[in-house]
Order: sequence, then structure tokens, then C-alpha cells
Amino acid sequence: MRYSVGIDDHDSPIAGCTTHFSTILINYFIKNNIKLLDYPYLIRLNPNIPWKTRGNAAIKFSIEFNGTKKELADIIWEKSIDYVKNVSKGLEYNRKPGVAVIDYEKSDNLYNLYLKAVSDIIPRDLVIKYSEKIGAELRGYRGVIGSLAAIGFRGPITYELLTYRKRENWNRKREIDISSVKAFDELFFPKVFANMDYIKKKPLIISHGNDPVFYGIRGLDPNILIKGLETIKTNEKLDMAMIFKSNQATDVHIIKTGNRVYQTIKDSCIVDDIKVIRGGDVIIKCLNSATLICYKETGELNLATKNLMHGDIIEFVGSIKPSLEFGEIIEIERIHINSLVNSKFANPRCPKCNGSTESLGKNKGFRCKKCGNKFLGNKMIIRIPRNLSLGIYQARYYRHLTKPLFLEDLDNSFKYEYIMDFYIIYNSINNILYSN
Ligand code: ATP
Repeated sequence: MRYSVGIDDHDSPIAGCTTHFSTILINYFIKNNIKLLDYPYLIRLNPNIPWKTRGNAAIKFSIEFNGTKKELADIIWEKSIDYVKNVSKGLEYNRKPGVAVIDYEKSDNLYNLYLKAVSDIIPRDLVIKYSEKIGAELRGYRGVIGSLAAIGFRGPITYELLTYRKRENWNRKREIDISSVKAFDELFFPKVFANMDYIKKKPLIISHGNDPVFYGIRGLDPNILIKGLETIKTNEKLDMAMIFKSNQATDVHIIKTGNRVYQTIKDSCIVDDIKVIRGGDVIIKCLNSATLICYKETGELNLATKNLMHGDIIEFVGSIKPSLEFGEIIEIERIHINSLVNSKFANPRCPKCNGSTESLGKNKGFRCKKCGNKFLGNKMIIRIPRNLSLGIYQARYYRHLTKPLFLEDLDNSFKYEYIMDFYIIYNSINNILYSN
């Protein structure tokens, strides 16, 4: 029988990770001759939900298993409980692991649930309803939301290769040879991306904290990611690695936008006023009373918003968050400048002394502030030099789902790629890891 499995919420703030648990599980299945039908999938869901640990990731994979859905769900759940008790300590930190198993052929029926999970907040009850309709086996708590939703994934894909550390190293500082990351990135960009921050001269691939991930590399071709595993040098021997298909870098969170808190919004704004606040974040007030914030960390996007002016027209993409000061605030990740104010009316200069002038009221003329001369005249039009151009500005550090600008042609790129079978890639990974 063929089944699709979803897994979520197996991590904790101090240890473990859902992808790590899934890699252990997949290794177990493969060792026991239970066949994977495709690559496993690393699926990012709504990036704005407050109770995620890091990047709101869930895992989906499909297998051929000689038994019932219930038997499969029980086997996985027993391993889940072991992991959250003994590895991630998730239960102590109020994590709520979940597992979902459905018939493989029914995965497509969950597409709407998946889209909703990327775009909105889903109550657990709705997931229970879907699961009854579709005959899913669910185990666990809140994690069943991400688990069942991830199974419904369909759409453009990228790949991520994740490497894992041996347990005795989880508390040690990660050290990586930066020149090896740079060499890999330079050779394969843009088929690999988000590896190096060339402005801060730092690799972006390293995980932080005590979780088991050492680094993750992202790209369009699994064969190239394998080359990364060969080239990138770390100071410790890695324990495991896995390659996932993913919805990362595909802009799926913008397919179905909304206007409620914790949704992603796409809208337009006529700029009323901008204010740079302490720390360098920029507050943009729109004429329709929406308030946008552009954090300093967004780099070029933040610099661009500092130069916006009253009357400029932009489209923006951002996350709606609650705010004590503004009620709601929109954290922007991308803007498209549609129109820039590049001229304005100004009082004429004084014809006698060229001093600046003030208006005496409608049709009453002007008075020179310097020599007091009063005269009749018209306002003049002056050009405003702008340090901005029309078009897109995007945050320097991409959120997981945000499509980098250079991947605009993403959908087309897959039409000509020949993608290796999962097992060839899986065996290559393990040959590289365990050959020396
Ligand atoms: P890690 O990356 O280590 O797995 P994480 O940041 O992905 O951590 P999770 O541990 O997966 O965080 O926690 C996210 C929780 O939110 C899960 O329980 C998941 O089921 C739930 N969840 C995901 N998307 C939604 C949604 N749209 N609405 C409601 N709950 C959601």
C-alpha cells in the first residue's frame, strides 16, 4: 500500500528538529526495505504564526508500506514519543508533536488545506474535519495541523540539503571554512542561493543554537547540492544528511493573501509620511491609514524606504502583526515602487534680492522674508532629485518562502532540468559522509 505521511512540531527551543527526526525515520524505513516513492519534502507553512519555534516547517514523505494506515501511524508515533522525550525534550517545552498518515492517492485532496496553512491560522477542529473526510490517521496534538497540511503540498519546488551533527557536538560552536562555502556559491550561483552574505562576509547556511542541524544549502538541482556536501568543509565529522524537495523560495505565501492579523498582505499604499525610528527601522504611514514597518535588517529595502516621500505610490508585501502602538502593523519584505513624486510647487524667489518668500494668501501675492518686498506672482514648479527608481526592492535576507528576485523564472527552469532519482542522490550522500 502507498501512503503519505506528515510530521510536525518534534523540536524544542533547546534541542531537536522535525527534519532531524524525519531523517532518522526515513533512514529507518530505507534500512528496513520500506520504499520511499519520492524525495521527502520540507514544507514551510504560514511564516507569521506566533507559536512556531523557528521557520514553521513540516515534513511530508510518501512510502510503500506492507500494512495498514493505522499500523504505520502507530510505528511512527512510537518513534515520535521516544524522540520528543529523549532527544528534543519537546514535551517539557510545551511542544505539541503530531503525525498524519493518509492514502497516497488522496494527497491532492488536501491542497486547499495546505494553501490555507500557508496563508492563515487553522484551528485544530478544521483539521479533524478534513481528516475524517479523507480517512486520515492522526496522532498527537497541535502538530497534526502542519502534518496534514504539508501532505497537501503541490506546486513549484526548490531543494535543500540539510546536514546533521553528532549528538556529542550539539553544544559546541559550529565552525566552517568560509572559503569553501564561497567557492561553492561562486561556482553554482544562481542554481544555489542564500549561501553567503557578501556584504557582511559571512556564510548564511549555518544553523544557530543547540539544534542538530549543522548547515543547510539551497538550490534548484540536487546533484549540485551533493557537490556542496563534498566541497564545504566543517570542523567536525557530520552524522547524517538528507535532501528535501521544498516550497522554499517559491512565493507561495503570496498566492492567497489576506487582511487579518498573522496573514500575509499584498496591497498598495500612497505614502503619507515616513519616519526613521531609533535603531534605523522605518515607519511608513499610508494615506489609507495603514502603517508599515521596514526593519533595518532588511538592508537595501530599508535604505529604499528611507527615501520615500509623501505622494509616492508603492505596492507592498508584508506580514500583519498586532502592535501596541498602532493596533496593527505590517512588516514589509518587498515593495514595488509604481510612482515617485519628482516635482513640487514652491513659492517664487524675491525678484529684488532673490530671498525666500512666504505666501500672503490665495491670489494675494508673496512677501520676501529677507527684504520685506511684497509682489504678485505664481508658485513655481521645482524638480526633486530622488535616490530611488521605479521597480522592486526586496529584503536582503530572504524569508524561507520568499522567492529571490533572480529566481523569477523558477517555474520554467524545471522544465529542462533532469532531476536525479531520490535513491541515487540518497546513496551519494551516504557514500560521501561515510567513505572516510
Ligand atoms: P522546526 O523548524 O524546528 O520544526 P518550527 O518553527 O517549524 O520548528 P514547529 O515546531 O513546527 O515550529 O511549530 C509550529 C506549530 O504550528 C505546529 O504545531 C504546527 O502544526 C502549527 N501550525 C503550522 N501552521 C499552522 C497554521 N497555519 N495554523 C495553525 N497552526 C499551524
